[in-house]
Amino acid sequence: MIVEMRTGAGKDEVDVVLAKVKSLGLEVQMNYGTNKTIIAVLGSNTGQLPTDILAVLPGVENVTRIMKPYKLASRGFKQEDSLVNIDGVVIGDKRVVIMAGPCAVESRQQLTEATAAVKEAGATVLRGGAFKPRTSPFSFQGMEKSGLELLAEAKKKFNLPVITEVVDPHDVPLVAGYADILQVGSRNMQNFSLLMAVGRSQHPVLLKRGFSATVTEWLTAADYILAEGNNRVILCERGIRTFENSVRFSVDISSIPVVKKSSHLPVVLDPSHAAGHYSLVPAIARAAIAAGADGLLLEVHPNPKEALVDGLQSLTPAAFTRLMAELKPIAEVIGRYI
Ligand code: PEP
Ligand code: MN
Repeated sequence: MIVEMRTGAGKDEVDVVLAKVKSLGLEVQMNYGTNKTIIAVLGSNTGQLPTDILAVLPGVENVTRIMKPYKLASRGFKQEDSLVNIDGVVIGDKRVVIMAGPCAVESRQQLTEATAAVKEAGATVLRGGAFKPRTSPFSFQGMEKSGLELLAEAKKKFNLPVITEVVDPHDVPLVAGYADILQVGSRNMQNFSLLMAVGRSQHPVLLKRGFSATVTEWLTAADYILAEGNNRVILCERGIRTFENSVRFSVDISSIPVVKKSSHLPVVLDPSHAAGHYSLVPAIARAAIAAGADGLLLEVHPNPKEALVDGLQSLTPAAFTRLMAELKPIAEVIGRYI
């Protein structure tokens, strides 16, 4: 942490800062300029220290954090890649994992058709929302418990692990009774009581990036889950809000290598919610694999025109099958496979 004193700050003011730093058990390195004193605060966990405790002291102009605020998710904490094993489907290893299915579970027939199609094309995890986080309270909110039951049926029939979203901390035990991976949606990335609840469940968790969150905030949110002793965390980039309005969200491809550098956690990408339109999904999916994503989370609907949610961004089974064929050689070029 770097403490920049105001121009002309007196020795008494510098001494107050030094006493505070000392009381925290930290070391300092002093830099005396012609007009300004700069104090480097040294210690192993300055990333977790609030900058305010020094910024409020008299004579302090600015405090800049050097260490990242996240700890358990960081590469510094754990150097080797974390692998998340879901019933033999390993996320973070050489195999790129494709999770696909409808945005929302709508009926037994819709889910059965979608599951048969994605399995046939090579997906190894089934996605489907039973609890939907909708912007409007008047939109379809999901089939809830009966949707979970249909997911359990499809899981059994097609022998595919299931990922589904949980939106309320109170529903975590219920959803964990059906899901192999609990999805925390973009809108809930900083719902800290939900993060702690999914952490306590000890169930694998896929944590989507908040669409207004920095990578640092995203990894710090992951710390909430890891701090509960739950190490099975998968990150998911799904696009962020920018000034660009030709797509639903701007997909931040660079977050894939940034996360790989900064964290040991596996990271997948959701091209469907980023694109917002089925025609854009394949290009974003190909780019994600090339950038080193450990997997994809994709929306596939047997009949997108009839979908209750996100039909415009859903691939048909035929388009998904074509995409899978395009992705395979890209994975191979970078030493992976699908
Ligand atoms: C979803 O995956 O269905 C979803 C709602 O995604 P997001 O949280 O990224 O908007
Ligand atoms: Mn959706």
